[in-house]
Amino acid sequence: MAEAQAAGELRRFLLEGHPLRGHWVRLGPAWQELRARRAYPPLVEALLGEAASAAVLLAATLKFAGTLTLQFSGGGRVRLLVAQCTDDFRLRAVAHHDLADGEAAGFAELVGAGKLVVTVQSDTSVASYQGIVPLAGTTLGECLERYFEGSEQLPTRLKLVADQAHAGGLLLQRLPAGGAGAASGEGAGALVQGAWEDLQYGLEALTPAALLGAPAELVVRSIAGMHDCRLFGATPVSFACRCSPERVAGLVRSLGIGEAHAALAEQGALTVTCEFCGRDYRYDAVDVEQLFAGGSLPQPAPGPLN
Ligand SMILES: [Zn+2]
Repeated sequence: MAEAQAAGELRRFLLEGHPLRGHWVRLGPAWQELRARRAYPPLVEALLGEAASAAVLLAATLKFAGTLTLQFSGGGRVRLLVAQCTDDFRLRAVAHHDLADGEAAGFAELVGAGKLVVTVQSDTSVASYQGIVPLAGTTLGECLERYFEGSEQLPTRLKLVADQAHAGGLLLQRLPAGGAGAASGEGAGALVQGAWEDLQYGLEALTPAALLGAPAELVVRSIAGMHDCRLFGATPVSFACRCSPERVAGLVRSLGIGEAHAALAEQGALTVTCEFCGRDYRYDAVDVEQLFAGGSLPQPAPGPLN
């Protein structure tokens, strides 16, 4: 399918002469595709849109090659939420919940009392990085601000918002001073602090409607105020699932042949549905035998009890 318009856009900006930067993201068609995979009550949908936007913003702030996963399962009404973004900004997300349509719940009730976990999994090695923060605060943005303070030790401000048409967010970050060409001394420190406060006021004043609807240039200009600001070009963000026949075959093998035969006996076929994109992978009896007879199957090593 040809893409007539960007499914989503990410834009980076910085304040000239200051170690202050930001990222702006807006998901349009990518958010629509994500929503089309599964129906959610409005509150869960809003949280999912915020988490999806946050995953893109987090990925934008980090240097990595692989997949960033933002996940929580805190025993709240949203039992599990997973949002994943690759280093080239392919996005997918899913939530499990027991909230009825139209039912009201505050943030704490939605997310429960667990932890927010951010994992970065490398494509090329087994190395992974994990940051964990308590699900405290009144918004997902607040939780993530704590994540940045704890794990990245970078003062960070975040605003996230989602409605049925769009999801988006804006992230501000104060980097360590003293980079190449940076001014130093107390006077320079006060200037940076002043500019940092100005940015935060700008973010406070930013309305959800502007974040979801106004052009990036206007949004960033309104936040930067009188400061000299540079806005970089757009990076596309897309909805894309990374499920594949190979991955699903691996999953079925890990279930074991007993489970596979039980499913065959009960339903005549074994169907695995990807919960991110809704795609069905179906195996009949012959497929299952082939899957488990494959030469690549790890055979259990003979032990003393065998
Ligand atoms: Zn999928």
